[in-house]
Amino acid sequence: MAEMVTAAAPGRVNLIGEHTDYNGGMVLPAALAVGLKVNLAPRSDSVVAVSSAGYDAPSIRDLEDEAVGDWADPCVGALREANSLGLLDGGAALDVVSTIPEGSGLSSSAALIVAILKAAREANGNGPSDVDIAVAARRVENQYMGVPCGIMDQMAVALARPGTAMALDTGKLEYALVPLPQSHEMVVVHSGLTRKLTDGRYKARKEECDAAKRYFGTEDLCLLDWETVKGANLDATAKKRAMHCVSENVRVHAAIAALDAGDMTALGTAMNESHESMRDWFEMSLPQIDTLVASAVELGAAGARLTGGGFGGCIVACVEKTGRDAWLEALLEKHPDARFIDAVSG
Ligand code: ADP
Ligand code: MG
Repeated sequence: MAEMVTAAAPGRVNLIGEHTDYNGGMVLPAALAVGLKVNLAPRSDSVVAVSSAGYDAPSIRDLEDEAVGDWADPCVGALREANSLGLLDGGAALDVVSTIPEGSGLSSSAALIVAILKAAREANGNGPSDVDIAVAARRVENQYMGVPCGIMDQMAVALARPGTAMALDTGKLEYALVPLPQSHEMVVVHSGLTRKLTDGRYKARKEECDAAKRYFGTEDLCLLDWETVKGANLDATAKKRAMHCVSENVRVHAAIAALDAGDMTALGTAMNESHESMRDWFEMSLPQIDTLVASAVELGAAGARLTGGGFGGCIVACVEKTGRDAWLEALLEKHPDARFIDAVSG
């Protein structure tokens, strides 16, 4: 019997920099306390047997299976990748325990795939670096599952450290860990609305960005200057997407500078402007989420925004620690469908 190994990965909240990670831009995710753990027992046949505390029945699949839109797809994809990396030679029994809400923009899929790859590395005794694990995990989502996501989620859950945000240049794959403030908390609140990244709207945004990339002749949409995009005569939708990408990238830099300076007013402003850009230019918000963000700010947050891929999921708000409990209580009273998920600080 092959021995069982265990690996874990946290969920992540993106403080700012949305949809910039497949457009050559910056992102600023932070690891959450909610997370996911995987027990992996290698098998000598090609069977993939997954049980998860979140699901009633186990899923029995085969390494040869293509993605079928089933919850175990990320597990099959991750084990196929583990085989092609030479970490495993066959299937595995997996047991998943998670506190990350799914389909909520907190990267449960990336945490699952990264944890499986780290467990496979453990089973093998050695293997790729954490950065290479992140790159492999993205391949699973892009190629096996058909989700055209960038590299942010995988890098964040493979490498982020508690108490810090990861200022990640997704074009260069270089990052710096920036300490989170001690005076404020980054509070994650679920809107009550969930979505699946496989539902097509994420893909549509990616294609609109691709159209803008073709027009400007660059892969790095985020690095264009504002005047160039503003004055350009491209398709109106593609232009709005590009306006979000360029301005969002500038806001990530502003947010990093604000964290470095301990200036939470400036951080909050960047977050608020990011939300407006996601709402008006990237058109990835929903009316209920706009209202939740507005309440968060009205009730005293320095800033708030939708976080993650969009069309549902969570918001993140920057809130002074001393007033946090009262703020949260008032917010949840006003929005009965919303619920507290997690909070991070320095
Ligand atoms: P997220 O924003 O949480 O990453 P996705 O739609 O990208 O949302 O990924 C959610 C998918 O990840 C689920 O449909 C399921 O396939 C997988 N997943 C997440 N958490 C678990 C879990 N605890 N057990 C099994 N599969 C999970
Ligand atoms: Mg995901």
